[in-house]
Amino acid sequence: MTKISDFIGKNARLNVQEAISRAKDKEEYHALLSLTEERALERADAVDRGEITGRLAGVPFVVKDNFLAYGAPTTAASKMLETFNAPLQATAVEKLELEGAICIGKANLDAFAHGGSTENSAFGPTKNAYDKSRVAGGSSGGSAVVTALDIVPFALGSDTGGSIRQPASFNGVIGVKPTYGTVSRYGVVAMASSTDTIGAFATNVADAELVMDIMAGKDDKDMTTLPDFFTPSPAKPSLKVGLIKETMTDDVDPEVKQATLQYIEHLKAAGHTVDEVTLPIVKYALAMYYIIVPAEVSSNLARYDGIRYGHRAGDVRTLAELYGKSRDEGFMTENKRRIMIGSYVLSSGFFDAYYLQAQKARTLLVNEFNKLFENYDVLIGPTTPTPAFGLGENTADPIKMYLADIMTVPASLAGLPAISVPAGNSESGLPIGVQLVGQRRSDATLLALAKSLEEL
Ligand code: GLN
Repeated sequence: MTKISDFIGKNARLNVQEAISRAKDKEEYHALLSLTEERALERADAVDRGEITGRLAGVPFVVKDNFLAYGAPTTAASKMLETFNAPLQATAVEKLELEGAICIGKANLDAFAHGGSTENSAFGPTKNAYDKSRVAGGSSGGSAVVTALDIVPFALGSDTGGSIRQPASFNGVIGVKPTYGTVSRYGVVAMASSTDTIGAFATNVADAELVMDIMAGKDDKDMTTLPDFFTPSPAKPSLKVGLIKETMTDDVDPEVKQATLQYIEHLKAAGHTVDEVTLPIVKYALAMYYIIVPAEVSSNLARYDGIRYGHRAGDVRTLAELYGKSRDEGFMTENKRRIMIGSYVLSSGFFDAYYLQAQKARTLLVNEFNKLFENYDVLIGPTTPTPAFGLGENTADPIKMYLADIMTVPASLAGLPAISVPAGNSESGLPIGVQLVGQRRSDATLLALAKSLEEL
Protein backbone atom coordinates (compact mmCIF):
# COMPACT_ATOMS: atom_id res chain seq x y z
CA MET A 1 0.00 0.00 0.00
CA THR A 2 1.19 3.53 -0.62
CA LYS A 3 2.74 5.59 2.13
CA ILE A 4 3.11 9.32 2.66
CA SER A 5 6.84 9.06 1.95
CA ASP A 6 6.06 7.79 -1.57
CA PHE A 7 4.77 11.30 -2.39
CA ILE A 8 7.42 13.43 -0.72
CA GLY A 9 9.96 15.17 -2.96
CA LYS A 10 8.01 14.22 -6.11
CA ASN A 11 6.41 16.56 -8.59
CA ALA A 12 3.31 17.74 -6.74
CA ARG A 13 1.23 18.33 -9.89
CA LEU A 14 1.87 14.73 -10.92
CA ASN A 15 1.00 13.49 -7.40
CA VAL A 16 -2.33 15.29 -7.62
CA GLN A 17 -3.10 14.33 -11.21
CA GLU A 18 -2.39 10.68 -10.50
CA ALA A 19 -4.50 10.66 -7.33
CA ILE A 20 -7.39 12.25 -9.22
CA SER A 21 -7.14 9.74 -12.02
CA ARG A 22 -7.12 6.87 -9.49
CA ALA A 23 -10.24 8.41 -7.94
CA LYS A 24 -11.93 8.55 -11.34
CA ASP A 25 -10.95 4.95 -12.13
CA LYS A 26 -12.55 3.79 -8.87
CA GLU A 27 -15.76 5.77 -9.20
CA GLU A 28 -17.88 2.63 -8.91
CA TYR A 29 -17.11 2.50 -5.16
CA HIS A 30 -18.74 5.91 -4.72
CA ALA A 31 -16.25 6.85 -2.04
CA LEU A 32 -16.04 10.50 -3.06
CA LEU A 33 -18.81 13.09 -3.33
CA SER A 34 -16.66 15.68 -5.08
CA LEU A 35 -13.18 16.40 -6.34
CA THR A 36 -11.43 19.67 -5.59
CA GLU A 37 -9.33 19.36 -8.72
CA GLU A 38 -8.89 22.99 -9.68
CA ARG A 39 -7.78 24.17 -6.27
CA ALA A 40 -5.64 21.06 -5.76
CA LEU A 41 -3.72 21.70 -8.98
CA GLU A 42 -3.19 25.35 -8.08
CA ARG A 43 -1.76 24.33 -4.73
CA ALA A 44 0.37 21.65 -6.37
CA ASP A 45 1.90 24.23 -8.71
CA ALA A 46 2.66 26.45 -5.72
CA VAL A 47 4.44 23.49 -4.07
CA ASP A 48 6.40 22.83 -7.24
CA ARG A 49 7.43 26.49 -7.38
CA GLY A 50 8.69 26.20 -3.79
CA GLU A 51 6.10 28.65 -2.45
CA ILE A 52 4.49 26.07 -0.19
CA THR A 53 6.74 23.83 1.89
CA GLY A 54 6.32 21.58 4.91
CA ARG A 55 6.30 18.02 6.18
CA LEU A 56 3.51 17.04 3.78
CA ALA A 57 4.46 19.17 0.78
CA GLY A 58 2.72 17.80 -2.30
CA VAL A 59 0.99 14.89 -0.50
CA PRO A 60 -2.63 14.40 -1.65
CA PHE A 61 -5.34 13.60 0.88
CA VAL A 62 -9.13 13.42 1.19
CA VAL A 63 -11.46 14.84 3.85
CA LYS A 64 -14.82 13.54 4.97
CA ASP A 65 -17.48 15.83 3.58
CA ASN A 66 -18.51 17.13 6.99
CA PHE A 67 -15.23 19.11 7.20
CA LEU A 68 -15.50 22.65 5.90
CA ALA A 69 -12.98 22.94 3.08
CA TYR A 70 -12.54 25.09 -0.01
CA GLY A 71 -12.85 23.87 -3.57
CA ALA A 72 -16.19 22.00 -3.40
CA PRO A 73 -19.41 22.24 -1.39
CA THR A 74 -19.50 20.85 2.18
CA THR A 75 -22.62 18.72 2.06
CA ALA A 76 -22.32 16.42 5.09
CA ALA A 77 -23.87 14.00 2.55
CA SER A 78 -27.22 15.72 3.04
CA LYS A 79 -29.75 17.51 0.88
CA MET A 80 -29.78 20.15 3.60
CA LEU A 81 -26.24 21.28 2.73
CA GLU A 82 -26.10 20.07 -0.88
CA THR A 83 -25.04 23.47 -2.23
CA PHE A 84 -23.32 24.88 0.86
CA ASN A 85 -19.96 26.45 0.09
CA ALA A 86 -17.80 26.81 3.17
CA PRO A 87 -16.82 30.38 4.04
CA LEU A 88 -13.84 29.06 6.04
CA GLN A 89 -11.85 25.86 6.49
CA ALA A 90 -11.77 23.47 9.42
CA THR A 91 -8.72 23.98 11.65
CA ALA A 92 -7.61 20.38 10.94
CA VAL A 93 -7.59 21.06 7.19
CA GLU A 94 -5.81 24.39 7.67
CA LYS A 95 -3.07 22.75 9.74
CA LEU A 96 -2.46 20.09 7.10
CA GLU A 97 -2.40 22.71 4.36
CA LEU A 98 0.14 24.71 6.33
CA GLU A 99 2.40 21.65 6.05
CA GLY A 100 1.86 21.52 2.29
CA ALA A 101 -0.72 18.71 2.07
CA ILE A 102 -3.21 18.96 -0.82
CA CYS A 103 -6.89 18.06 -0.43
CA ILE A 104 -8.13 16.44 -3.65
CA GLY A 105 -11.70 15.62 -2.71
CA LYS A 106 -14.50 15.17 -0.21
CA ALA A 107 -15.50 11.72 0.98
CA ASN A 108 -18.96 10.21 1.33
CA LEU A 109 -20.51 9.59 4.76
CA ASP A 110 -23.80 8.88 6.45
CA ALA A 111 -25.68 12.20 6.34
CA PHE A 112 -24.52 14.35 9.28
CA ALA A 113 -22.38 11.34 10.34
CA HIS A 114 -25.45 9.51 11.68
CA GLY A 115 -24.83 5.88 10.93
CA GLY A 116 -22.44 2.97 10.69
CA SER A 117 -22.54 1.97 7.03
CA THR A 118 -22.56 5.10 4.81
CA GLU A 119 -25.94 3.89 3.55
CA ASN A 120 -27.60 6.96 5.09
CA SER A 121 -25.88 9.26 2.58
CA ALA A 122 -28.40 11.34 0.61
CA PHE A 123 -26.26 10.58 -2.45
CA GLY A 124 -26.09 6.78 -2.24
CA PRO A 125 -23.86 4.34 -0.34
CA THR A 126 -20.12 3.73 -0.59
CA LYS A 127 -19.03 0.17 -1.34
CA ASN A 128 -16.52 -1.83 0.66
CA ALA A 129 -12.99 -1.78 -0.75
CA TYR A 130 -12.75 -5.59 -0.51
CA ASP A 131 -16.25 -6.62 -1.59
CA LYS A 132 -18.56 -4.32 -3.49
CA SER A 133 -21.67 -6.12 -2.26
CA ARG A 134 -20.80 -5.09 1.30
CA VAL A 135 -20.90 -1.82 3.23
CA ALA A 136 -17.92 0.46 3.66
CA GLY A 137 -18.83 0.94 7.30
CA GLY A 138 -19.48 4.38 8.61
CA SER A 139 -20.06 7.02 9.07
CA SER A 140 -16.63 7.85 7.56
CA GLY A 141 -16.99 5.09 4.94
CA GLY A 142 -15.70 7.14 2.02
CA SER A 143 -12.52 8.17 3.84
CA ALA A 144 -11.74 4.55 4.77
CA VAL A 145 -12.31 3.32 1.22
CA VAL A 146 -10.17 5.98 -0.51
CA THR A 147 -7.34 5.02 1.82
CA ALA A 148 -7.84 1.27 1.35
CA LEU A 149 -7.97 1.66 -2.45
CA ASP A 150 -4.69 3.60 -2.39
CA ILE A 151 -6.29 6.66 -3.99
CA VAL A 152 -4.54 8.79 -1.34
CA PRO A 153 -2.16 7.78 1.48
CA PHE A 154 -4.35 9.28 4.21
CA ALA A 155 -7.81 10.71 4.80
CA LEU A 156 -9.60 12.56 7.58
CA GLY A 157 -12.69 11.43 9.42
CA SER A 158 -14.75 12.25 12.47
CA ASP A 159 -15.54 9.70 15.17
CA THR A 160 -18.45 10.25 17.56
CA GLY A 161 -19.17 6.61 18.41
CA GLY A 162 -16.94 4.62 16.10
CA SER A 163 -17.11 6.35 12.73
CA ILE A 164 -13.37 6.14 12.12
CA ARG A 165 -12.57 2.85 13.84
CA GLN A 166 -15.41 0.76 12.40
CA PRO A 167 -14.90 1.64 8.70
CA ALA A 168 -11.13 1.32 9.22
CA SER A 169 -11.66 -2.24 10.44
CA PHE A 170 -14.09 -3.03 7.58
CA ASN A 171 -11.54 -1.89 4.99
CA GLY A 172 -8.23 -3.07 6.45
CA VAL A 173 -6.64 0.29 7.28
CA ILE A 174 -5.49 2.09 10.42
CA GLY A 175 -8.12 4.31 12.06
CA VAL A 176 -7.28 6.72 14.88
CA LYS A 177 -9.85 8.23 17.23
CA PRO A 178 -7.87 10.42 19.62
CA THR A 179 -8.51 11.49 23.19
CA TYR A 180 -11.49 13.86 23.23
CA GLY A 181 -10.11 17.39 22.67
CA THR A 182 -6.87 16.41 20.93
CA VAL A 183 -7.78 17.93 17.56
CA SER A 184 -9.93 21.01 17.05
CA ARG A 185 -13.52 20.39 15.98
CA TYR A 186 -13.75 23.92 14.61
CA GLY A 187 -15.17 23.87 11.10
CA VAL A 188 -16.49 20.31 11.29
CA VAL A 189 -20.28 19.89 11.12
CA ALA A 190 -21.29 19.10 14.71
CA MET A 191 -22.97 15.80 15.56
CA ALA A 192 -22.70 15.19 19.33
CA SER A 193 -20.38 17.79 20.80
CA SER A 194 -19.40 15.82 23.91
CA THR A 195 -18.06 12.84 21.94
CA ASP A 196 -17.15 14.27 18.49
CA THR A 197 -13.46 13.77 17.71
CA ILE A 198 -11.31 14.34 14.63
CA GLY A 199 -8.91 11.68 13.46
CA ALA A 200 -7.27 9.98 10.52
CA PHE A 201 -7.11 6.93 8.31
CA ALA A 202 -3.76 5.72 7.00
CA THR A 203 -2.20 2.63 5.51
CA ASN A 204 0.44 2.37 8.25
CA VAL A 205 0.85 3.57 11.82
CA ALA A 206 3.78 5.93 11.21
CA ASP A 207 1.72 7.94 8.73
CA ALA A 208 -1.25 8.08 11.10
CA GLU A 209 1.13 9.30 13.82
CA LEU A 210 2.51 12.07 11.59
CA VAL A 211 -0.94 13.30 10.58
CA MET A 212 -2.18 13.29 14.19
CA ASP A 213 0.96 15.11 15.32
CA ILE A 214 0.27 17.86 12.78
CA MET A 215 -3.44 18.20 13.62
CA ALA A 216 -3.20 18.01 17.45
CA GLY A 217 -3.13 21.04 19.68
CA LYS A 218 -4.97 23.88 21.34
CA ASP A 219 -7.22 25.97 19.13
CA ASP A 220 -8.73 29.20 20.42
CA LYS A 221 -11.73 28.52 18.19
CA ASP A 222 -12.60 25.26 20.03
CA MET A 223 -12.59 25.70 23.79
CA THR A 224 -12.58 21.95 24.40
CA THR A 225 -9.16 21.45 22.77
CA LEU A 226 -6.35 20.33 25.04
CA PRO A 227 -2.87 21.88 25.04
CA ASP A 228 -0.75 19.80 22.70
CA PHE A 229 0.31 16.63 24.50
CA PHE A 230 0.74 14.45 21.43
CA THR A 231 4.38 13.56 20.93
CA PRO A 232 5.18 10.45 18.91
CA SER A 233 7.22 8.21 21.18
CA PRO A 234 9.04 4.89 20.97
CA ALA A 235 7.18 1.74 22.00
CA LYS A 236 7.20 1.00 25.72
CA PRO A 237 8.45 -2.45 26.70
CA SER A 238 6.31 -4.92 28.68
CA LEU A 239 2.98 -3.15 28.81
CA LYS A 240 0.09 -4.60 30.78
CA VAL A 241 -2.74 -5.29 28.38
CA GLY A 242 -6.31 -6.20 29.36
CA LEU A 243 -8.57 -8.15 27.03
CA ILE A 244 -12.11 -6.91 27.67
CA LYS A 245 -14.11 -10.06 28.35
CA GLU A 246 -17.43 -8.48 27.33
CA THR A 247 -16.13 -7.96 23.78
CA MET A 248 -15.45 -11.68 23.27
CA THR A 249 -18.90 -13.15 23.89
CA ASP A 250 -20.66 -15.85 21.87
CA ASP A 251 -22.41 -13.13 19.85
CA VAL A 252 -19.11 -12.16 18.30
CA ASP A 253 -18.15 -13.73 14.97
CA PRO A 254 -15.73 -16.65 15.59
CA GLU A 255 -13.28 -15.44 12.95
CA VAL A 256 -13.21 -12.01 14.57
CA LYS A 257 -12.47 -13.61 17.95
CA GLN A 258 -9.78 -15.78 16.37
CA ALA A 259 -8.08 -12.74 14.77
CA THR A 260 -8.15 -10.93 18.11
CA LEU A 261 -6.56 -13.88 19.91
CA GLN A 262 -3.92 -14.09 17.21
CA TYR A 263 -3.07 -10.41 17.70
CA ILE A 264 -2.81 -11.09 21.43
CA GLU A 265 -0.28 -13.84 20.70
CA HIS A 266 1.83 -11.25 18.87
CA LEU A 267 1.55 -8.92 21.85
CA LYS A 268 2.77 -11.66 24.17
CA ALA A 269 5.59 -12.60 21.82
CA ALA A 270 6.68 -8.94 21.91
CA GLY A 271 7.02 -9.13 25.69
CA HIS A 272 3.71 -7.65 26.84
CA THR A 273 1.45 -9.39 29.32
CA VAL A 274 -2.21 -9.94 28.53
CA ASP A 275 -4.93 -10.78 31.08
CA GLU A 276 -8.65 -11.01 30.72
CA VAL A 277 -10.41 -8.08 32.40
CA THR A 278 -14.05 -7.20 32.90
CA LEU A 279 -15.98 -4.02 32.17
CA PRO A 280 -19.48 -5.10 33.17
CA ILE A 281 -21.14 -1.75 32.51
CA VAL A 282 -20.39 -2.13 28.79
CA LYS A 283 -23.75 -3.86 28.44
CA TYR A 284 -25.42 -0.49 29.07
CA ALA A 285 -23.09 1.52 26.83
CA LEU A 286 -25.34 1.44 23.77
CA ALA A 287 -28.34 2.50 25.83
CA MET A 288 -26.36 5.47 27.20
CA TYR A 289 -24.99 6.36 23.78
CA TYR A 290 -28.34 6.25 21.99
CA ILE A 291 -29.82 8.61 24.58
CA ILE A 292 -26.95 11.10 24.99
CA VAL A 293 -25.97 11.33 21.32
CA PRO A 294 -29.50 11.96 19.95
CA ALA A 295 -30.00 14.57 22.70
CA GLU A 296 -26.94 16.45 21.46
CA VAL A 297 -27.87 15.80 17.82
CA SER A 298 -31.32 17.32 18.30
CA SER A 299 -29.73 20.41 19.76
CA ASN A 300 -26.97 20.71 17.13
CA LEU A 301 -29.34 20.20 14.20
CA ALA A 302 -31.73 22.88 15.43
CA ARG A 303 -29.62 25.44 13.54
CA TYR A 304 -30.85 24.10 10.18
CA ASP A 305 -34.00 26.17 9.94
CA GLY A 306 -34.10 26.92 6.22
CA ILE A 307 -33.29 30.55 6.95
CA ARG A 308 -29.69 31.04 7.99
CA TYR A 309 -28.17 28.51 5.61
CA GLY A 310 -28.91 25.19 4.02
CA HIS A 311 -31.94 24.01 2.10
CA ARG A 312 -34.95 26.32 2.08
CA ALA A 313 -38.29 24.87 1.00
CA GLY A 314 -40.30 26.73 -1.58
CA ASP A 315 -44.04 27.26 -1.69
CA VAL A 316 -44.65 27.89 2.01
CA ARG A 317 -46.99 30.36 3.65
CA THR A 318 -46.11 30.40 7.35
CA LEU A 319 -42.89 30.39 9.36
CA ALA A 320 -43.77 27.03 10.90
CA GLU A 321 -44.29 25.62 7.45
CA LEU A 322 -40.92 26.99 6.31
CA TYR A 323 -39.14 25.31 9.23
CA GLY A 324 -41.06 22.08 8.90
CA LYS A 325 -40.82 21.65 5.16
CA SER A 326 -37.17 22.70 4.91
CA ARG A 327 -36.22 20.23 7.63
CA ASP A 328 -38.41 17.49 6.21
CA GLU A 329 -36.82 17.83 2.77
CA GLY A 330 -33.24 18.41 4.00
CA PHE A 331 -32.87 15.60 6.54
CA MET A 332 -32.70 11.83 6.04
CA THR A 333 -34.90 9.40 7.99
CA GLU A 334 -32.06 8.60 10.42
CA ASN A 335 -31.46 12.31 11.11
CA LYS A 336 -35.15 12.75 11.88
CA ARG A 337 -35.22 9.68 14.10
CA ARG A 338 -32.38 11.08 16.18
CA ILE A 339 -33.95 14.54 16.38
CA MET A 340 -37.17 12.97 17.67
CA ILE A 341 -35.47 10.67 20.19
CA GLY A 342 -33.24 13.52 21.33
CA SER A 343 -36.12 15.95 21.79
CA TYR A 344 -38.04 13.28 23.68
CA VAL A 345 -35.28 12.42 26.15
CA LEU A 346 -34.65 16.12 26.80
CA SER A 347 -38.32 17.03 27.27
CA SER A 348 -39.28 18.13 30.77
CA GLY A 349 -41.36 15.03 31.43
CA PHE A 350 -38.65 12.54 30.51
CA PHE A 351 -35.36 14.37 31.16
CA ASP A 352 -34.83 12.79 34.58
CA ALA A 353 -35.84 9.32 33.47
CA TYR A 354 -33.63 9.16 30.38
CA TYR A 355 -31.06 11.89 29.82
CA LEU A 356 -30.07 12.35 33.44
CA GLN A 357 -29.91 8.60 34.08
CA ALA A 358 -27.77 8.12 30.98
CA GLN A 359 -25.34 10.82 32.11
CA LYS A 360 -25.09 9.22 35.56
CA ALA A 361 -24.43 5.83 33.96
CA ARG A 362 -21.80 7.47 31.76
CA THR A 363 -19.95 8.57 34.92
CA LEU A 364 -20.05 4.98 36.16
CA LEU A 365 -18.57 3.84 32.85
CA VAL A 366 -15.76 6.41 33.14
CA ASN A 367 -15.10 5.16 36.69
CA GLU A 368 -14.96 1.53 35.54
CA PHE A 369 -12.44 2.40 32.87
CA ASN A 370 -10.37 4.40 35.35
CA LYS A 371 -10.33 1.47 37.75
CA LEU A 372 -8.96 -0.80 35.02
CA PHE A 373 -6.31 1.75 34.11
CA GLU A 374 -4.99 1.57 37.67
CA ASN A 375 -3.63 -1.83 36.69
CA TYR A 376 -3.51 -1.87 32.89
CA ASP A 377 -1.86 0.33 30.28
CA VAL A 378 -3.93 -0.69 27.29
CA LEU A 379 -7.25 -2.48 26.74
CA ILE A 380 -7.92 -4.63 23.73
CA GLY A 381 -10.85 -6.24 21.93
CA PRO A 382 -12.26 -6.56 18.44
CA THR A 383 -13.26 -3.26 16.77
CA THR A 384 -16.56 -4.71 15.53
CA PRO A 385 -18.56 -7.86 16.28
CA THR A 386 -18.48 -8.98 12.61
CA PRO A 387 -16.61 -8.14 9.41
CA ALA A 388 -18.39 -5.82 6.94
CA PHE A 389 -22.06 -6.73 6.53
CA GLY A 390 -23.97 -6.74 3.26
CA LEU A 391 -25.39 -3.59 1.65
CA GLY A 392 -29.04 -3.37 2.71
CA GLU A 393 -28.65 -6.07 5.37
CA ASN A 394 -29.30 -3.82 8.40
CA THR A 395 -31.07 -0.84 6.86
CA ALA A 396 -34.60 -1.91 7.74
CA ASP A 397 -33.73 -2.42 11.41
CA PRO A 398 -32.10 0.55 13.17
CA ILE A 399 -31.58 -1.44 16.38
CA LYS A 400 -29.58 -4.05 14.52
CA MET A 401 -27.51 -1.27 12.98
CA TYR A 402 -26.93 0.30 16.41
CA LEU A 403 -25.84 -3.06 17.89
CA ALA A 404 -22.86 -3.05 15.51
CA ASP A 405 -21.49 -0.07 17.50
CA ILE A 406 -21.19 -1.99 20.77
CA MET A 407 -17.38 -2.20 20.75
CA THR A 408 -16.66 1.40 19.80
CA VAL A 409 -19.09 3.54 21.79
CA PRO A 410 -17.61 2.91 25.28
CA ALA A 411 -14.32 4.72 24.48
CA SER A 412 -16.31 7.57 22.89
CA LEU A 413 -18.50 8.06 25.96
CA ALA A 414 -15.39 8.11 28.17
CA GLY A 415 -13.37 10.38 25.85
CA LEU A 416 -10.57 7.82 25.59
CA PRO A 417 -8.15 7.36 22.69
CA ALA A 418 -8.80 4.25 20.63
CA ILE A 419 -7.33 2.96 17.41
CA SER A 420 -8.31 0.20 15.05
CA VAL A 421 -5.51 -1.79 13.49
CA PRO A 422 -5.80 -4.46 10.78
CA ALA A 423 -5.56 -7.99 12.20
CA GLY A 424 -5.86 -10.19 9.15
CA ASN A 425 -8.77 -11.31 7.02
CA SER A 426 -11.69 -13.69 7.32
CA GLU A 427 -11.73 -16.83 5.21
CA SER A 428 -13.79 -15.01 2.61
CA GLY A 429 -11.18 -12.26 2.43
CA LEU A 430 -12.86 -9.55 4.52
CA PRO A 431 -10.61 -7.45 6.75
CA ILE A 432 -10.86 -7.75 10.54
CA GLY A 433 -9.76 -5.02 12.95
CA VAL A 434 -8.58 -5.04 16.54
CA GLN A 435 -9.14 -2.06 18.80
CA LEU A 436 -6.60 -0.73 21.29
CA VAL A 437 -7.94 1.64 23.97
CA GLY A 438 -5.84 3.68 26.38
CA GLN A 439 -6.29 6.20 29.13
CA ARG A 440 -6.74 9.85 28.24
CA ARG A 441 -3.70 11.36 26.53
CA SER A 442 -2.06 7.98 25.97
CA ASP A 443 -2.57 8.28 22.21
CA ALA A 444 1.14 8.17 21.43
CA THR A 445 1.57 5.02 23.54
CA LEU A 446 -1.20 3.24 21.63
CA LEU A 447 0.25 4.19 18.26
CA ALA A 448 3.77 3.20 19.28
CA LEU A 449 2.49 -0.19 20.42
CA ALA A 450 0.60 -0.74 17.17
CA LYS A 451 3.65 0.32 15.18
CA SER A 452 5.96 -2.08 16.99
CA LEU A 453 3.61 -4.97 16.17
CA GLU A 454 3.20 -3.91 12.57
CA GLU A 455 6.97 -4.24 12.16
CA LEU A 456 7.01 -7.83 13.38
N1 GLN B 1 -22.40 4.43 14.15
C1 GLN B 1 -22.44 5.38 15.21
C2 GLN B 1 -23.73 6.17 15.16
O1 GLN B 1 -24.51 5.90 14.32
C3 GLN B 1 -21.25 6.27 15.17
C4 GLN B 1 -21.40 7.49 14.33
C5 GLN B 1 -20.19 8.39 14.39
O2 GLN B 1 -19.20 8.11 15.06
N2 GLN B 1 -20.31 9.52 13.73
O3 GLN B 1 -23.96 7.01 15.95
